[in-house]
Amino acid sequence: MTSIAVCPGSFDPVTLGHIDIISRGAAVFDKVIVAVLHNRNKQPLFSVEERLALLREATKHIENVEVDAFSGLLIDYMKTKKARTIIRGLRAVSDFEYEMQAASINKKLGPEIETFFMMTNNNYSYLSSSIVKEVAKYDADVSDIVPEVVAAALKKKFSG
Ligand code: ADP
Repeated sequence: MTSIAVCPGSFDPVTLGHIDIISRGAAVFDKVIVAVLHNRNKQPLFSVEERLALLREATKHIENVEVDAFSGLLIDYMKTKKARTIIRGLRAVSDFEYEMQAASINKKLGPEIETFFMMTNNNYSYLSSSIVKEVAKYDADVSDIVPEVVAAALKKKFSG
């Protein structure tokens, strides 16, 4: 049986914190699907298509990673992909409450699906897409916290 894990998120945009979680997940599971959520409640900087393109470029060196988008319930998406595991990253204690709620509701909706948490790499514990956007807006150097292709895309977004 192939073990398929889904790593869901907004990825607006993908950071090296995400890449760390994705590549560590890919070392454990046969396949990792990075799934970008179409979220109507959030006003994103990058469109879903842009986020997919950035993720594809930033993960192209990891053979067993696939990039996709989904809307609706994560559990329904997981079932269509025959995936049994959700991978989420944990940074600070502040992530815990939301993640606990999400994992609990997902367990209720899909009892056969497990959520696995991975601790952030210490180097990226402070890193989030929001921080990256905030810093990039003021033209600061983000080259050591995001993939190269994302640094270029941010520069382009904010220079326009
Ligand atoms: P969401 O909007 O669903 O939180 P994100 O794109 O912000 O989506 O994050 C996707 C996943 O990556 C989440 O599990 C988040 O906790 C994790 N993540 C984000 N940044 C980091 C980081 N620096 N270290 C570890 N995990 C992270």
